[in-house]
Amino acid sequence: MANPGPDIASGRLSPDEYAANFGDVEPPLDAKRAFIESSRCYFCYDAPCIEACPTGIDIPGFIRKIATGNVKGAAITILEENIFGGACARVCPTEVLCEQACVRNHAEDKPVDIGALQRHATDHLFARGEQPFRREASTGRRIAVVGGGPAGLACAHRLAMLGHAVTVHEAREKLGGLN
Ligand code: SF4
Repeated sequence: MANPGPDIASGRLSPDEYAANFGDVEPPLDAKRAFIESSRCYFCYDAPCIEACPTGIDIPGFIRKIATGNVKGAAITILEENIFGGACARVCPTEVLCEQACVRNHAEDKPVDIGALQRHATDHLFARGEQPFRREASTGRRIAVVGGGPAGLACAHRLAMLGHAVTVHEAREKLGGLN
């Protein structure tokens, strides 16, 4: 890959400058606020929020787990559908997707804060440093994934879980694509 030039190098900011420039716009939910927010969910049977989620996460399912104190289980429910659930909790335009569809909008004009709850759950798991998934016994198959953006990496993760040996081919030096 061609050198992108000094203006695009990483690590140019001090930790203080980084924290000042890239601090959270919205602070994360603490456990009490997460519990209160999760209690606002109606746990709809045919939840429109799931229909509006491009990755089809069982949103009432993971919110119920937060409400009952199973925050780790909530994170696993999220990551089973979307291994980038932690990143999506921060960058996904929830206001035009799941939260726009939330039935709480009808009565209160205030949807359940699904994105913040998703972040609460995934941050909880990542802070514990636990790996919730394991690789199945080797199938002996080798699979190449072309492109190391979110879709390619998610595909590679699932293939690895199924026991395949995966190689990701990416033209750029750093994986992750838009992420
Ligand atoms: S639409 Fe809103 S209230 Fe219904 S399950 Fe989804 S988040 Fe909960």
